[in-house]
Amino acid sequence: MSAEYDIIIVGSGIVGAATALALARETSLKIAVIEAKLPRYNLDTTQYDHRVSAISLASKAILQNLNCWESIKAKRLSAYTQMHVWDAKGSGEIHFDSQSLGESVLGYIVEDSVIRNSLHEQFEFYPTINFLCPVALVSMEEKTNHIELMTQDQKILTTKLLIGADGAESWVRANAKIDLKNEDYAHTAIVASVTTTLPHQSTAWQRFLPTGPLAFLPFHDPYHCSIVWSAEHAYAKDLLALDDVSFCKRVGDEFAHKLGEIAGISLRHSFPLRMRHVKQYVHSRLALIGDAAHTVHPLAGQGVNLGLLDAAALAEVIVDAVKKNRDFSSLMTLRRYERWRKGDVVAMLTLVSGLKRLFGSEHESVKKARTLGLAFVNDFPVVKNLLVSYALGKRGDLPQLVGLK
Ligand SMILES: Cc1cc2nc3c(=O)[nH]c(=O)nc-3n(C[C@H](O)[C@H](O)[C@H](O)COP(=O)(O)OP(=O)(O)OC[C@H]3O[C@@H](n4cnc5c(N)ncnc54)[C@H](O)[C@@H]3O)c2cc1C
Repeated sequence: MSAEYDIIIVGSGIVGAATALALARETSLKIAVIEAKLPRYNLDTTQYDHRVSAISLASKAILQNLNCWESIKAKRLSAYTQMHVWDAKGSGEIHFDSQSLGESVLGYIVEDSVIRNSLHEQFEFYPTINFLCPVALVSMEEKTNHIELMTQDQKILTTKLLIGADGAESWVRANAKIDLKNEDYAHTAIVASVTTTLPHQSTAWQRFLPTGPLAFLPFHDPYHCSIVWSAEHAYAKDLLALDDVSFCKRVGDEFAHKLGEIAGISLRHSFPLRMRHVKQYVHSRLALIGDAAHTVHPLAGQGVNLGLLDAAALAEVIVDAVKKNRDFSSLMTLRRYERWRKGDVVAMLTLVSGLKRLFGSEHESVKKARTLGLAFVNDFPVVKNLLVSYALGKRGDLPQLVGLK
């Protein structure tokens, strides 16, 4: 059995699903979204999802324009209006608040499953989207005018353009033999949701410890936060081996009890952190987006935000080609997407690696420079606003789907 598509997107995570919707709302292209794992659609009202993202205002605008925002809001989200970052080994600190920046919020903390489910709900409004799930792909072959995929149950799927949105360990990237820079950040991230004895004040907190950053991201309940503790591998292993009571005590101590005591904790999950960046985003009839193209340390909370900008930019160049009756799968079309996104991603990867190095250093001179640097940024509104506009996602050449001025 076989089926033909104009575009196949492998991976129905936030980035793949957003790309499908962005294309379907503007074209009549026949699209297949292939997903290996059955998503969990029922929202667990008794606990939070361990995968949580800080969503920038640019990402919110994309989700709004894809008609998903109301559904995300109706499920569960938390706006944060302040951000507080401080150095455990110096007196440096920096504080942002939305009011002084003329914004009502700085961003939103949203569980990944909530965003993904709200995107998937929209598939049913587009008959051109075929969601194939669960499907296991076993081979991929480039033919003269199309790419052919074979599924485990021997179905052949052909496509004019293949989009790899299949995450950090991308199967599409490996099969297309696309080379990448792949470096260990030397950190493991431990994530969990915690209950605190003091309210989070709608603030996203991050304390830079010598062993790595510890972030508290506020949930909609004022006494609940998602924590992301990125620690050197060996230390993270020790932390994971602690029982819940000892771990909560350690979190409270290392966080200088800013939110009081840690009164409860969910299951802990861990992720080894690597910086990945593909050498080419595109090949003939193929494009990589989201984590399939790049992964970044979570200290700046930018992975999904970069991926949603990839989705919007790639969809825009494809839609533009379709409207001009050009080949949407040609290397010339796809290169526009690569040129558009690569600079922004490189800038973010460089910024994040620089921050990690700066805050990881124990040298006295670096510690002093850190304190002075944070004080400088904190005291100069122009510099501060520039940094924040970066974090809000209001930077550079934004795709039309962002719709932000
Ligand atoms: C600890 C931690 C904290 C983070 N915090 C933030 C944050 O605050 N803000 C932020 O913006 N980002 C954050 N990120 C990054 C963010 O989670 C990722 O960038 C984002 O989830 C990538 O989305 P994606 O759709 O590209 O990939 P994924 O979410 O990985 O989705 C890929 C999909 O492809 C499917 N798939 C894989 N292989 C195949 C195959 N062969 N066939 C079919 N389907 C396949 C998978 O099942 C999955 O559904 C964080 C990451 C970590 C590890």
